[in-house]
Amino acid sequence: MSFVSTDGGGYVSTLLQETGLVEHLFGTARRNPEGPFLRLKQVHSARIVDAADWREGLEADGLATATPGLRLAVRTADCVPLLLCDPVARAIAAVHAGWRGTALGIALEAVRFLATRHGARAGNMIAALGPAIGGCCYEVGPEVAHQFRALFPERNDLGTRTKIDLREALRRQLILTGLSAAAIDVSPHCTRCGGGEFHSWRRDGPRAGRMISLIGLRTGG
Ligand SMILES: [Zn+2]
Repeated sequence: MSFVSTDGGGYVSTLLQETGLVEHLFGTARRNPEGPFLRLKQVHSARIVDAADWREGLEADGLATATPGLRLAVRTADCVPLLLCDPVARAIAAVHAGWRGTALGIALEAVRFLATRHGARAGNMIAALGPAIGGCCYEVGPEVAHQFRALFPERNDLGTRTKIDLREALRRQLILTGLSAAAIDVSPHCTRCGGGEFHSWRRDGPRAGRMISLIGLRTGG
């Protein structure tokens, strides 16, 4: 399990790649995947919707499908792009997770959605958490930190200004939901201190660009 850069730029998860079932790419400032793809109006919710119910401007933070050829995308610049695939049920999801969505349990919601809507099972799923702001740089106030107490029970500093590792929070949420730790790929890249390869809201402010991460089930597979 690892993240590897592609020749043209962007990253792929070897775990997702080894399924042979999906095309996927975590975009960077250097290269974003090209369309067509379905995207959402992301609102920092924990709402997951099915691609069959998609329309332009739909407000949600996760898209799911079991239809080959439909490509699902999320846009991030510090928030975590999460791509999910159940290779047995042949169902996928693309999720945008900032601190609000993570605290609201969006990883859990995505796994549940794939299970109820597409017959997927957490124990069969593969997850990849892409480039995002790291625990090295993501400083938050106590009002945010304290919402992570359940996911980081070993920490006693969540009542103060401190740093949070969102990908680790999501990884733990996925494991609590039933995914195997060995089935979760976690990018080591920090968008804020990782240099110009990434867009970062915290580093660049309102002028920050967005990175697109996408996943689609291959057709004819
Ligand atoms: Zn960093």
